[in-house]
Amino acid sequence: MPELPEVETVCRQLEPELEGRRIATLEVLDPRWCRPIKPAELEEAVAGRTIESLGRRGKYLLLGLDGGRTLLMHLRMTGNLVLVEGEDRLDPSEGMRLYEGERSASERHLRARFALDDGRELWFTDPRRFGEALLLGDDELDAHLASRLGIEPLSAQFTAAALGEMAAGRTVPLKSFLLDQKGVAGVGNIYADEALFRARLHPLSPAGSMKPEHLEALRDGVVAALEAGIDGGGASIDDYRDGRGEKGRMQDEFLVHTREGEPCPRGDGTVERIVVSGRSTYFCPACQAKLRRRPRRRNRPARRSA
Ligand SMILES: [Zn+2]
Repeated sequence: MPELPEVETVCRQLEPELEGRRIATLEVLDPRWCRPIKPAELEEAVAGRTIESLGRRGKYLLLGLDGGRTLLMHLRMTGNLVLVEGEDRLDPSEGMRLYEGERSASERHLRARFALDDGRELWFTDPRRFGEALLLGDDELDAHLASRLGIEPLSAQFTAAALGEMAAGRTVPLKSFLLDQKGVAGVGNIYADEALFRARLHPLSPAGSMKPEHLEALRDGVVAALEAGIDGGGASIDDYRDGRGEKGRMQDEFLVHTREGEPCPRGDGTVERIVVSGRSTYFCPACQAKLRRRPRRRNRPARRSA
């Protein structure tokens, strides 16, 4: 499932290619992709628009169009956004070459395709069809995102103090705490494991048990894990492909994620797998400290309801 580094990789690759290009047509092949809006309605609203930007917030892709509207896209589990050569597109027997990349088997999973004014096409492919798109006016965009996403972890707002505020009084395990998009936006199963390993924190430690030094370590761990993911071009455990249709390399560089039974990179133990919040979670019991729940202080103000 694509997380922040995968979405950021797509964004960085495709923005220079897409900026200033006009969308000749949009063809929605799967009504589920843009529901509740009807495909024809979205196709009409997007056709003829010029792409002003391609940005990211959390795991969302934001395709900024002229006229003050943004097409918000979420890849969910198996979605990919790939730029392809448009030639021969009406004759699949001739083959559809992926832009600068290997031809992908995901052609048959095409959900929507944008034909650009330079003859190339932008494909949204998605085998499991959970990916989605939503067209929003610029006035609605901020509120829409703010109600779903917390702090952007690669921004200056992501500090140990901000993490401390979020974690205060919470008994939820650190792994689940990191997966909550309303806390830290964009971290998913892979990078939560990698961040906790870097921070030497046990995934089952209660979030509210972190002391200032743990908050610093977790902040640094999250940032380092995400930056490593971006440097690695994202992780292709299963379906993820970058904006050119190629696999990422990060899956070969995981420190603990999917490394059950392998030696800890710190050399002090063996990576174990447990299930937290229904998600496979990998950690080293030797160097990731299980913090105790901090004793409640007397006369403590009532904590926020979750
Ligand atoms: Zn270890």
